[in-house]
Amino acid sequence: MRATLDEMKRRARDTGIFLDFDGTLSEIVHIPSEARPVAGAAQVLQDLAQSYPVVTIVSGRSAHELLEWLGPELDIWGVHGAQRVRDGEVVLSRLVAPFADLMRQVRDEAQDAVAALDLPGVIVEDKEVIIGLHFRAAEDPEEASVKLDRLAGTLAERHGLLRAGGRLAYELRPPLSLSKKTVVLEVAQEAGLRGALFAGDDRVDLPGFDALDELDQRGLATLRVGVLSDEAPEELVERSDVTVEGPAGMLDLLRSLL
Ligand SMILES: [Mg+2]
Repeated sequence: MRATLDEMKRRARDTGIFLDFDGTLSEIVHIPSEARPVAGAAQVLQDLAQSYPVVTIVSGRSAHELLEWLGPELDIWGVHGAQRVRDGEVVLSRLVAPFADLMRQVRDEAQDAVAALDLPGVIVEDKEVIIGLHFRAAEDPEEASVKLDRLAGTLAERHGLLRAGGRLAYELRPPLSLSKKTVVLEVAQEAGLRGALFAGDDRVDLPGFDALDELDQRGLATLRVGVLSDEAPEELVERSDVTVEGPAGMLDLLRSLL
């Protein structure tokens, strides 16, 4: 059942709130490490965690940063579900732990290759088991995109990895199905939820909407929130039950759920 915001608020006791971070709770920035939650967000989320059984943050970003910025009261999943915060500590999920050594090797190879390609502004991001090749801040993003595409392909083939493309970045991942869908379904079952709200701004958030579609079929009340920006994918907007203007609009929506 597709629910309204008011219905979600009435069902707070058994409803889970699932949120992306970048572009949803923070403004998009050129250098990923410089992102921060919009002012007031951490407090609103901690307040929500008092009335809702789970407030889950699920991001492609490292759980370490999210824990520092948002606090241990929240259910934080980093690296698309490869990491989870447990008792204030970031742990690797059982599914990905066996790939840790391999991904360290891939990171070293990616760093050496990027240095050899001489691409100023390109960042190799090490998220423990996922390696990101960021070209948003590259001096020549087009050239960087072509060269990193080739590099990602080579590394993926050499080590049997999965490739993903986010906004102005490529990623290399262990050959596992890590997605926001898996996280939402797992948490919904674990917490015995009867309602779920998911909010995101990007293509990688569509699996979160997929999870809600599945929960909807199991009889849960669901609400999909699309966070609008110049780069918002059309499919996200089409599938949203509600849209808000950027992270500031998202914060207003979250306040209305208190
Ligand atoms: Mg995002």
